[in-house]
Amino acid sequence: MMAGRTKYTSDTPCGHCGSTTRTVYGAACWTCQTTKRPLQRDSRGKVSAWPAALRSRDGWLALCEQRKRERSGQRDTCTFGPFTASSTPTGKLSIQAPALGVSVPDASTLSFDQLNKLVRLYPEFLELLEWAGWV
Ligand SMILES: [Zn+2]
Repeated sequence: MMAGRTKYTSDTPCGHCGSTTRTVYGAACWTCQTTKRPLQRDSRGKVSAWPAALRSRDGWLALCEQRKRERSGQRDTCTFGPFTASSTPTGKLSIQAPALGVSVPDASTLSFDQLNKLVRLYPEFLELLEWAGWV
């Protein structure tokens, strides 16, 4: 029984850090979890509470709604000069420009220098970023 315990030792090591300690709540890797969001402890070092929620209930429900719309394939598409941009409800932006040989499935992978270069070469690209709410 694991009553009253917050962690246990698992047979399978964590793929990220190799630790075999897991949280009872959710079976996530204990080491990764506590490094990311430290647990609240009392003066004797005993765990007193789980970390505070990152989002409010309404914020979480709004995110679920966005993900649901994304899964159903809803996206906004707009064309700026040679560029065709499409953005998903969760804010993922993909950029296509067949004439220029540009095909970026996820614009967040582009570096600042790459974006800057595209903006200097093609003024329409700035309009695209404005449309997507990036500038
Ligand atoms: Zn881990």
